[in-house]
Amino acid sequence: MSIAKRLLAGMTSMLVGAAFCQTTVSAQALPDHTAKIAEGVYSYGPGDYFSMFVVTDEGVIAIESVNTQHSRGLLQAIRAVTDQPVKLMVHSHNHWDHASGGQVFRDAGATILAHDEAYEWMKANPGGDMVLPDESWGGNRKDITLGGTTIELHYLGMNHGLGMTVFRLPEQKVAYIADLVTPKRLLFTIVPDFNIREWERTLEEIIELDFDIAVYSHNQNADPLQGGTKQDVAETLQFIRDLRAAIYAEFEKGTNPFMVPGVVRLPKYQDWAMYDQWLEMNAWRVLLDDWMGPFPWQPDHGPSIDNR
Ligand SMILES: [Zn+2]
Repeated sequence: MSIAKRLLAGMTSMLVGAAFCQTTVSAQALPDHTAKIAEGVYSYGPGDYFSMFVVTDEGVIAIESVNTQHSRGLLQAIRAVTDQPVKLMVHSHNHWDHASGGQVFRDAGATILAHDEAYEWMKANPGGDMVLPDESWGGNRKDITLGGTTIELHYLGMNHGLGMTVFRLPEQKVAYIADLVTPKRLLFTIVPDFNIREWERTLEEIIELDFDIAVYSHNQNADPLQGGTKQDVAETLQFIRDLRAAIYAEFEKGTNPFMVPGVVRLPKYQDWAMYDQWLEMNAWRVLLDDWMGPFPWQPDHGPSIDNR
C-alpha cells in the first residue's frame, strides 16, 4: 500500500464519522453524497473530501478533482443532475491529495485549470494520479462567466501550498474554500505547508469577502455536505490565536519551551475533531514558526524558475 493510500485509509477511519451520517434534507432526486447549496450550485463528498460544481445553461464548472475515484463519483453526480457538458475543472491548489484525478475530467472533455504557482509545482512534482492542467491563470483575480453565472477566482497570496484559490459566486453568495478552513476540527496534524502568519492574514481577507455559505474541502460540521458559514472562518482564525496565546502563557509560567507543546491545553476546543490527537502537533508547529521565523516563504514573483 502506498503512503498516500495508507494516509487516506487512516484519515478515513479516524475522521469519517460525521461525513457518513448526512441528513436527507434536499435529497429529492439528488444523487448520493450530493447536496444543493444554492440555485445551480452543488457540493459532492463521499468521504473526507468535498468538491463543488456549478450548473449553467452553457455547461458545468467543477472545483476540486481530489483523485480518480473521487472524480469518477463527482462526474457521475454531475451527470445525474444535468445533461450539460463539464466545461471546466478548476484546482484549488497544488497538493497531490487535492489536485489528482484530473484525467477523468479531461476524458469527459473538460479543460483543467490551476493558478500559475500550482501549475509550476505540479509540473516539477508530478503525482502518480495527477495530470498537468491544460491552462493556468496568473495574478490575484480571475473571473469566469459561463451561461450567465460568474465565478470569481481569488489568489490571496501565501497561505497554504501554492496557487491557493478561494472561489466566490457573487450572485449566489457561495464560496469554496480548500484546506484554509476546516470547520470544527483542529489544524491538520503538523500543519504542513502553511505559513501561519500569512494564513491569518488570508483568513482576515476571506472574512471581508461577501458570502453566506461556503463549501469546505474538509468539514467536521454536523452536516458537512451542506458546507458552513463565515463563522467557521472566524473560528479557525481564533483557534490559531488562542493556541499561540496558550503557548506564550506557558512561556510566562517558565515552562521549558520543549515541554510546552505537551502540556498546552485549550478546553474551549475540546469538542473539535482530533483535539486529543493533534493538539500537541499543532502546538509544535505554531511554536516553531514563532521561533524560527515564518516558513515556507517565497518571494513575490513566485516559484517559477523558467527564466533562470
Ligand atoms: Zn493542501
